[in-house]
Amino acid sequence: MTKRVLLLFAAVATFAMGVSQGQVTRARSPIRIPDIPGYRTLKCDFHVHTVFSDGNVWPQIRAEEAWRQGLDAIAITDHIEYQPHKDDLPINHERSFEIAKIHGDDLGVLVLKGSEVTRKMPPGHFNAVFLKSSRVLDVEDWRDALRLAAGQGAFIFWNHPGWTGQQPDGISRWYPEHTELLEKGQLHGIEVVNGQDYYPEVHRWCLEKNLTMLGNSDIHDPAGLVWETGTVGGRPLTLVFATDRTPEAIREALFARRTAVAVNGMLIGRKEYLEPIFKGSIEVLNPSVTVRGKRSAFVQISNVSDIDYDLSGEEQFEEVSVPSRLVLKGGKTVLLQLQGKSETLDMKKTFDLRYVVTNLKITPDAGLEVTFPVSVTFAPE
Ligand SMILES: [Zn+2]
Ligand SMILES: [Zn+2]
Repeated sequence: MTKRVLLLFAAVATFAMGVSQGQVTRARSPIRIPDIPGYRTLKCDFHVHTVFSDGNVWPQIRAEEAWRQGLDAIAITDHIEYQPHKDDLPINHERSFEIAKIHGDDLGVLVLKGSEVTRKMPPGHFNAVFLKSSRVLDVEDWRDALRLAAGQGAFIFWNHPGWTGQQPDGISRWYPEHTELLEKGQLHGIEVVNGQDYYPEVHRWCLEKNLTMLGNSDIHDPAGLVWETGTVGGRPLTLVFATDRTPEAIREALFARRTAVAVNGMLIGRKEYLEPIFKGSIEVLNPSVTVRGKRSAFVQISNVSDIDYDLSGEEQFEEVSVPSRLVLKGGKTVLLQLQGKSETLDMKKTFDLRYVVTNLKITPDAGLEVTFPVSVTFAPE
């Protein structure tokens, strides 16, 4: 090899290094929340704005943000009535979805067509998702808008009922208008979480009135300005338990109320969904241990999800002391310490260690109860 060729190689290698170091890696951060028996756990955000209403982001970018943050699906839900950029962009209620969907298709992120029907309270703001046409909702009377959305087979939910812009004390209130919509079959779900706000009263309504629970970002700015990633500590999510990763399967699951909400490291949802998520995340690696005298034995518990489960328990036993609080860190294996209380015990016993997972909310006041059976052999030291 001549000196000149070597120099050329060196120059190319240096250039390539420079390029790779200077580039942002366009990487996806998957969100690890297990599937449940019979269903896939899809991570979705059904409330997203773009420059086609009052957002600050071109629609195409919404698809890539969702991909990077580990989401399966987003709904583009620009306001029908609120168009603050109309002097810069023509009003076109269909366009933001069309643009976002092209890049969503490139990346394998499902982009759904929605709109936000925007009125003062009551009745407030509503998102209609799985629309065929958004522009037909641009009518004077909100009753007509929601009737036309329902007529298209859309899934309709009430947005941010406790938003301080409409309820200054942050408390959600149910008005006769909402009863009217419910009775007409034009209200299918409510946002239990909008942005970082959790509305406990809405959580209760969803349980009492059998409505779908949603948790959405209502994002207006670039996602990177708001959250690092889409994990359960970042962007709020609606978890959808769907038979397949398709728009049709998501729609079916929403109408069947198979959802839960993730926000700030907390999951909110019905017990029938949160329990299998916990069970699918956790494995007790050594359910049989030996305690010698007053020494300790360690049960190892692995958690394959990204959720830190916060366990709290009050129960104590005559033979052994157990921790009253334990955090099962996401992606880690944690030690549960059992300490003997007697030097002379010689027996075998199974203990049901009962805890409440305080960050899995099955009602506004109750966490999920879980039990770990542990078989302990006691031997003198
Ligand atoms: Zn709104
Ligand atoms: Zn909104």
